[in-house]
Amino acid sequence: MMRWKQDDYAGWGGVMRAHGRIARPERVITLTELMAETPAPAMGARRSYGDTALNGDGAIIDMTRMDKFLSFDAETGLLEAEAGATLGDMLKTFGPKGWMPAVVPGTGFVTLGGAIANDVHGKNHRMAGSFGQHIESIQLLGADGKSQRISLKRNAPLFKATIGGLGQTGVILSARIHLAKCPAGTMAVEERRIADLDSFIDALIASTATYSVGWVDITGSGVNLGRGILEEADFANGTFRKPRRTKKVPLNFPGFSIKLFVKAFNWLYLRRASADGRNRERALTDFFFPLDRILNVNRLYGKKGFHQFQCVLPDETARAALQKMLEEANQSGLCSPLTVLKRMGSGRGGMMSFPMGGMTLAIDIANKTKAQALLARLNDITKNAKGRVYLAKDSSLDPMYLREMYPELADFRKIINEADPEGVFETNMTRRLNIRGKS
Ligand SMILES: Cc1cc2nc3c(=O)[nH]c(=O)nc-3n(C[C@H](O)[C@H](O)[C@H](O)COP(=O)(O)OP(=O)(O)OC[C@H]3O[C@@H](n4cnc5c(N)ncnc54)[C@H](O)[C@@H]3O)c2cc1C
Repeated sequence: MMRWKQDDYAGWGGVMRAHGRIARPERVITLTELMAETPAPAMGARRSYGDTALNGDGAIIDMTRMDKFLSFDAETGLLEAEAGATLGDMLKTFGPKGWMPAVVPGTGFVTLGGAIANDVHGKNHRMAGSFGQHIESIQLLGADGKSQRISLKRNAPLFKATIGGLGQTGVILSARIHLAKCPAGTMAVEERRIADLDSFIDALIASTATYSVGWVDITGSGVNLGRGILEEADFANGTFRKPRRTKKVPLNFPGFSIKLFVKAFNWLYLRRASADGRNRERALTDFFFPLDRILNVNRLYGKKGFHQFQCVLPDETARAALQKMLEEANQSGLCSPLTVLKRMGSGRGGMMSFPMGGMTLAIDIANKTKAQALLARLNDITKNAKGRVYLAKDSSLDPMYLREMYPELADFRKIINEADPEGVFETNMTRRLNIRGKS
């Protein structure tokens, strides 16, 4: 039977690419056989922007067909699901029954395995912590071909190296996740304009809403630097609606249109909230996954693709560092409208988890010649501000910065090198950033 297929594939940003063997098993038994013959790292829906889910010239297991819900306790909200199940499907299936994932990122297409391996965060991070903090246990297939259940009680070090561990401890087959109460099918969303960066930071700190997110208009400069729209939301009391139809971006957009696209988008966005702000009720999927209605939204950046840079900065340094970052981004002319500013709490589930108390900024950057210089600058500002770059998005970090940004790196290395001495779960990213510490 043909189980492996040679193919080209890429991270979500389309810049980092790979060619290699891909298998898409549907059942645990097939996966176990594949792994016995060719041990390989796993990938989910490849919604990570850079190279964390790529294994160039090697083999990789695509987990998206292993997407079944295995059991659900309607009393406690404990769900067991295969690793390829998506968070969007969890919301769609269990939302109407009053339950949903406690943490969802900005797209519903991510898989349970991918959400664990990057310990993802949502717009409620201050309140709910990170995704991995809601995982009861994980069924992990190791490099030795054996599968075991791990949790905080059973093998806590391996559990904490698996959450946020970029797939380096093995293939997550399934996990038990504590869903949170989902009281309604709609959100009450308040949007208001914010004049500048300082006011934005103050407003995010002062916000008492369960969900909050800032959309910064990157075209604002001078006194307008950091202006944008603050969105705050809590559950309303509407019922579940059928999701609206998705639309496709049929072709890669030509590169030259980016500038216009950015300007038009920003102009429209800033006018969405009138000077007095606006309140509206939105379906849960529209609120949580605003871009998911446009399939292949990444094509808007053209064939050459784009980078996403995301950092988190501690409160003490955040204002000055964000000011510099927004100035650099604005002057480069390379950045997209989708610049997102959020407040983070300190909750994190694993040794290599991204979250840190402070402010987090995410910027899309078109893949033009000057992009590398801008990324290097943003990475430097982050490091000097004692912040951290998010590996789920990274394409450009200096490997030397890793230890400072991720203080538990040495302990993590020990665990993964023991669990996988031959490095069968290494990916393009772990090699690029020397995450194993071998060279
Ligand atoms: C539009 C958009 C919005 C986003 N918003 C947010 C956000 O708000 N917050 C946030 O935190 N992130 C956000 N992200 C990033 C995204 O949540 C993460 O990159 C997530 O990890 C992607 O999951 P995936 O299933 O696509 O995994 P992939 O990207 O395919 O893989 C990610 C990592 O997980 C590993 N992996 C995947 N499955 C398994 C498995 N079964 N076993 C072991 N390892 C596995 C891979 O090896 C890789 O290291 C966003 C991404 C997009 C495209």
